[in-house]
Amino acid sequence: MSISDAEQLFQEFGGEENIHTIALHAPTHHTPGGIPYLQLPGVVVLARPQVDLAGLSGFLNGFDSALRFPQYLDDPTQLPDSAQLCKIAGQVCYMSFGPGRTLNAQAKRYFDNLKSSGHGSVLEHANFSFLFYGISRSVTHELVRHRSGFSFSQLSQRYVSGRMLRFVERPEYRNEQQLHQQFMHRIERAAEEYNALTHHLLEMQQAGVDILSAEARTDLRKKVQQCARSVLPNETEAPIVVTANVRAWRHFIEMRASSHAEIEIRELAVRVFLCLRTSDPILFGDYALEQLSDSTYSVKTPFQKV
Ligand SMILES: Cc1cc2nc3c(=O)[nH]c(=O)nc-3n(C[C@H](O)[C@H](O)[C@H](O)COP(=O)(O)OP(=O)(O)OC[C@H]3O[C@@H](n4cnc5c(N)ncnc54)[C@H](O)[C@@H]3O)c2cc1C
Repeated sequence: MSISDAEQLFQEFGGEENIHTIALHAPTHHTPGGIPYLQLPGVVVLARPQVDLAGLSGFLNGFDSALRFPQYLDDPTQLPDSAQLCKIAGQVCYMSFGPGRTLNAQAKRYFDNLKSSGHGSVLEHANFSFLFYGISRSVTHELVRHRSGFSFSQLSQRYVSGRMLRFVERPEYRNEQQLHQQFMHRIERAAEEYNALTHHLLEMQQAGVDILSAEARTDLRKKVQQCARSVLPNETEAPIVVTANVRAWRHFIEMRASSHAEIEIRELAVRVFLCLRTSDPILFGDYALEQLSDSTYSVKTPFQKV
């Protein structure tokens, strides 16, 4: 197993990084019969913290001038906004704004101390929102088990019609000809069965069958789709928006980018780590990537569950 460099892997995975965007996109493929599928998780940072440091001045100016608190605003080292936000939160605790404080240049040491002593609550101030796509319903079932500090909004299989149906190919099938062919046949059959069932249920609804009736138009559609989805496999794509704070993302990475995690969610968690590490190398700089014998990656840190 070799330790790989996060920046290099982000580039290798086709990472997009500019002032507005951090993302690892995933292309859509089609079966010979035209059914869309994806082979990798798409991970897009939708939102990250933005700090108004100058907003502190009215507060810092209100103390004894000998304390020289306003100096805090002149720190020459700029931090990622998420690290700056958590550092302000930590430094408010001890009113560490004067010349004796830890400067931004020593932010890594500051956060290493905090992580090693388990004072993770200051990391809860910084939130990151992601869009995940190209992940299966089995991955989202595992993902939504993370309760603390997480919020989820997932595609509704009751509301969304079959026109948006896509599937996700497991890593084990991608490079094995027979399993890949079987996957393509299976999703073509699943899409066909879903469409045929929807059609039949609609006919029953139009004929006035009680269990499929509803007063509102959208409820009519839901009544059909909530039934038809029963034939969709675990490998159906389930796009989801997930917001969590840094403490919660760290726990997610430790659990799900570990070598013990299921491979598909591990592929997702490694990509989440790469995007977070790109956005904030201070808060996520303590992790090391390892390539496993199956050529996938895992992530480890000496500071667990801060
Ligand atoms: C390799 C692996 C295998 C797994 N296998 C299974 C399985 O076979 N069956 C299964 O059901 N699940 C399984 N899981 C899911 C696992 O049990 C957790 O539900 C999931 O990983 C979320 O972890 P968490 O509860 O620590 O995270 P979160 O829900 O995000 O919670 C974070 C932390 O907050 C604290 N916390 C949260 N809620 C409470 C609470 N109610 N009371 C006290 N403290 C709380 C805990 O310290 C917790 O670790 C597996 C997970 C992994 C990584």
